[in-house]
Amino acid sequence: MTREQIEQILKDSGVMLEGHFLLTSGRHSNRYMQCARLFESPKYSEALCAELARQFSDVKIDLVAGPALGGIIMCYEVARQLGVRNVFAERENGVMTFRRGFVIPEGANVLVVEDVVTTGGSVGEVIKLIREAGANVAAVGSVVDRSAGKVDFGVPFKAVYSAEILSYDADDCPLCRQGLPVVKPGSRQIKK
Ligand SMILES: [Zn+2]
Repeated sequence: MTREQIEQILKDSGVMLEGHFLLTSGRHSNRYMQCARLFESPKYSEALCAELARQFSDVKIDLVAGPALGGIIMCYEVARQLGVRNVFAERENGVMTFRRGFVIPEGANVLVVEDVVTTGGSVGEVIKLIREAGANVAAVGSVVDRSAGKVDFGVPFKAVYSAEILSYDADDCPLCRQGLPVVKPGSRQIKK
């Protein structure tokens, strides 16, 4: 798939929004990524997870693992395409852990996935758990890499779409200067 085709899916699925957004950091941006929207439409999630799985075709993978919530559906879809099992980790009293009887077999080659990587914090915690279980982290994969390749997990890391989202200081925003109303993503409220 070309970068254009991938961007088209991200737009059609509602993942990539273009406009004038207020980010949680307080900064403004012309783009916002809502990765959960990808998994709303199986045809889109299947296509992009296939694109990711293809990038690991030469890597031996026994198991796919990822952090809840973002990684759950993605783990399933990537594992389905690779024909392997999948498990997810979740927080219990703030600590990332495998619950529900999920077991990481010793020596297994694990692909760690998350829908969007920004700083890589949750993925890093899952990597640690897998190593503590005596398994091998073969690689990391995500649909979107918002760090534009800056995050280093110490293992191969591949993303379907890699881009750093530009943001502006609220007091020095070219979109504000154009008089465009700023929108807080996830809400219908429009701030002036
Ligand atoms: Zn602005």
